[in-house]
Amino acid sequence: MEIEEKDKNYLFHPMTNLAAHEQTGPPMTVVSAHGSTVTDRAGRDYLDAMAGLWCVNVGYSHPEMADALREQTLKLPYFHAFSSMGTDLPAQLSERLIEMAPVPMSKVFYGNSGSDANDTQAKLVWYYNNVLGRPEKKKIISRRRGYHGVTVLSGGLTGFKNLHDGFDLPLPMIRHVRPPHGLWEREPGQTDDEFATALAVELERFIINEGPETVAAMIAEPVMAAGGVIVPPETYFPKIQEVLRRHDVLLIADEVVNGFGRLGVPFGSNAVNMQPDLMTVAKGITSAYVPLSAVLVSDRIWQVMLEGSAKYGSFGHGYTYSAHPLAAAAAMKNLDIIERDGLVAEVARKGELLSELLHAAFADHPNVGEIRGRGLMAAVEFVESREPLRPFAAQGAFAGAVYQGALAEGVITRALPAADTVSFSPPFVVTESELERMVAGVRTGLDRAVEAQRK
Ligand code: PLP
Repeated sequence: MEIEEKDKNYLFHPMTNLAAHEQTGPPMTVVSAHGSTVTDRAGRDYLDAMAGLWCVNVGYSHPEMADALREQTLKLPYFHAFSSMGTDLPAQLSERLIEMAPVPMSKVFYGNSGSDANDTQAKLVWYYNNVLGRPEKKKIISRRRGYHGVTVLSGGLTGFKNLHDGFDLPLPMIRHVRPPHGLWEREPGQTDDEFATALAVELERFIINEGPETVAAMIAEPVMAAGGVIVPPETYFPKIQEVLRRHDVLLIADEVVNGFGRLGVPFGSNAVNMQPDLMTVAKGITSAYVPLSAVLVSDRIWQVMLEGSAKYGSFGHGYTYSAHPLAAAAAMKNLDIIERDGLVAEVARKGELLSELLHAAFADHPNVGEIRGRGLMAAVEFVESREPLRPFAAQGAFAGAVYQGALAEGVITRALPAADTVSFSPPFVVTESELERMVAGVRTGLDRAVEAQRK
């Protein structure tokens, strides 16, 4: 049986139309990858403008990653961290993360994915408020278009309706507010700062309306990724945080995509003036070579958690794979490579080139509503008309066509589910000529999408 037949017959895929897949099977089967290029079973190469799902930051098949993983597998492939047991690398990695953190943090807890780490965050803020004797303070605010995962809790934090449908999500204690997406949310004539103020005032009204004694935390990506690469106005987070502090609401930074250099600075919180109480990282911590996520908590949270021992005994949360030594080995080597090769500065430099290329290729097109981004994270949003500004009626179909057109050119971008947007998030090791080819491929994809519409 061909691989594609086996796939069709036995595997169900994430984020996939299951009935369509049952008919057609996988559109491509990737069998190998190097640097920024992935190769399918037919031997065709594609430039991966998305580093997988915003994650293979040091590039595919890095020999030093392979060596580090082989060495660790032969030395200690696994031991657990329950009941205070430990292994050496997670302890070293934790020290490193605390030293690197964009704001002072105190302790690290490990999971396996961004989703489970954000579930951990919710449990931590609930634990925190239970220890403090205010069990009614449990609601978590997220933003529409925010992406925080798909587990029972984090799936609700994610602000996309299509990820709630059919699953009875979000859970009752989750609320969503407006995102700082200038293209659609800003009033005509509003400056960046006025827009930020309007969103902060709205948030405060929202919290007061809910009852501040019922609101525990807000979670936010510094720069939203899957929601459309939405870069907030400079004063947005300072103003939002002023409101949160006034009502004793904790801030969780979801750095799953932004963290470890994606924006050309070490963390998203650095880029957008965010001072979180808790922080989630995943993806770029290992460049996705091994699944790993981490939750970082500030001393304010940690001190209350310590008091929890008297009330609840041992901390009743943790995974078989928490603090997995192989994942820690991948993270240590990945961070070594990023540091040694100066990849964060490279991201800043290449990000400027990406922005120039995108503006040159897309800015004048009548179906381009906005080009935005920071570092090696960018998006082009398509509209049916610019003047007056009007979205496509069937949301997402046009970006889907652009994606397909680019794929035919050998470039993998991503049509984001929350908008008519295609995104770019290439490996940090992408070359200048690869960036040029990525942008050119997506531009041809746009021409094909326009042509298909005319027919
Ligand atoms: N948070 C953000 C910002 C993400 O982009 C993602 C995944 O794309 C997640 C959380 C969830 O991570 P995972 O897919 O590893 O569960």
